[in-house]
Amino acid sequence: MGSLLFVASEAYPLIKTGGLADVAGVLPEVLRRAGVDVRLLLPAYAQVLARVKQPRVLAELELAGVPVRLLETRLPQTSLVTWLVDHPSFSVRGGNPYQDPAGAPWPDNADRFMLLSRAAAAISTGRTTLHWQPDVLHCNDWHTGPAIALTHRSATRSRTVFTIHNLAHMGLFDRATFDRLQLPADLWQPAAMEYYGQCSFIKAGLVYADHITTVSPTYAEEICHAPGGMGLEGLLSERRERLVGILNGIDVDTWNPASDPLLKQPYDADSLQDKALNKRALQRELGLRECDDRPLLGFVGRLAEQKGLELLLPVIDTLLDSPAQLVVLGTGEPGYERRLQALAANRPQTMALSLTYNESLAHRIEAAADLFLMPSLFEPCGLNQLYSLRYGTLPVVRRVGGLADTVVDTDADTLRTGSATGFVFEQPTPEALLQAARRAIDLWHDTQLWRQVQLTAMAQDFSWQQSAARYLALYGFATDARGDN
Ligand code: ADP
Repeated sequence: MGSLLFVASEAYPLIKTGGLADVAGVLPEVLRRAGVDVRLLLPAYAQVLARVKQPRVLAELELAGVPVRLLETRLPQTSLVTWLVDHPSFSVRGGNPYQDPAGAPWPDNADRFMLLSRAAAAISTGRTTLHWQPDVLHCNDWHTGPAIALTHRSATRSRTVFTIHNLAHMGLFDRATFDRLQLPADLWQPAAMEYYGQCSFIKAGLVYADHITTVSPTYAEEICHAPGGMGLEGLLSERRERLVGILNGIDVDTWNPASDPLLKQPYDADSLQDKALNKRALQRELGLRECDDRPLLGFVGRLAEQKGLELLLPVIDTLLDSPAQLVVLGTGEPGYERRLQALAANRPQTMALSLTYNESLAHRIEAAADLFLMPSLFEPCGLNQLYSLRYGTLPVVRRVGGLADTVVDTDADTLRTGSATGFVFEQPTPEALLQAARRAIDLWHDTQLWRQVQLTAMAQDFSWQQSAARYLALYGFATDARGDN
């Protein structure tokens, strides 16, 4: 087996804003257990330092004139060696790692993530006192793109893999910022980091990585064309044979309805009737009318256009009248928060809204709801639909990205063959969502068929094992740790 430096801007349970943290918190550990010599590299945010036990100072690095310390700890509940890039721009502020409390990007984001990238580049080219250099440098999303460009020309570099978790976040900065970062001047060109007059951190990864991956096969296809490629479709289709979609897995220990300590009543396929106790408990907790004669619909996620709020908001009243109940958990754009608040205020008994980031409530919603709504405009992989399937909470999803790859629509054929797991619609319109949700609600009233689809959904295997094997093959570790690419 070989050695791997896995670099990300967030990893569960140390710091999380979205799916990237779920991946970075599990995949490296799964690879470690498979025999890879892994180091996870993260920024030492204040929240991270508060959660790790006695990190020790491993090295002092000077990165383009900036002194940083490299700390060593373990990812909680694992034996995964985790290295933290310690600099005041990470450690001296709390809150969201990317945004200030008003939702604006931190003004020094380019400098902060450049430091993370420079640390990764220094380690992976052997320019530290660590006596450890990885065979493979695996970077994730825009925060780490420059690490790939910086190592590209080094004779002592590792092989490189860059994973796109969400192409919409490109890490765009102006020319003055590019100059301030002291990047090699020739990176400012369209064939490198320049993106329509700005500099793009994600392009630094996409242009120079030996291999590009993204988190589902369908998203890999979508980003090679407009509009999914968001202006990068030319570059990505040119690199198509170096681009592969590997579906994310989920942490099947944390997300296991049979043993989830956050649930009122754990349950599994043999005790599916107990799921109803979770529904009752959540109705009580959130002040909804306690009843089981109508389905409870759930939505958990960032309140951003990507997540299909423009599809969902116009149909909430109609759905509730069908009749149904709805619980929404999310944080995000103030405009969406206000519109949801207005809807919920009119419907105290049928709609519950929590504008918080609440991991434990997310688990209770997955267990309590009958249906889970995910009408995303685009979705690189999506994790919530996978949690929903595992909790027997049938997802209503748009046929895009990872949603298309993981949910099988319910129709006469898929019911007959026993492959149906949810409800899928095509068009990005409120009407199409409403129609799919209505099909779902109709089926919910057929207890026997509903149970059949729930059992199929719960039996799906989205554990990391298969995906991890594909990463190992890509790294060249499965067959030959020193492959030729
Ligand atoms: P994305 O990464 O685009 O936000 P994913 O579906 O890939 O979407 O992952 C989102 C993750 O963040 C899931 O684990 C989801 O449960 C979690 N999440 C999102 N918003 C919230 C919230 N308000 N409270 C708790 N968990 C949330």
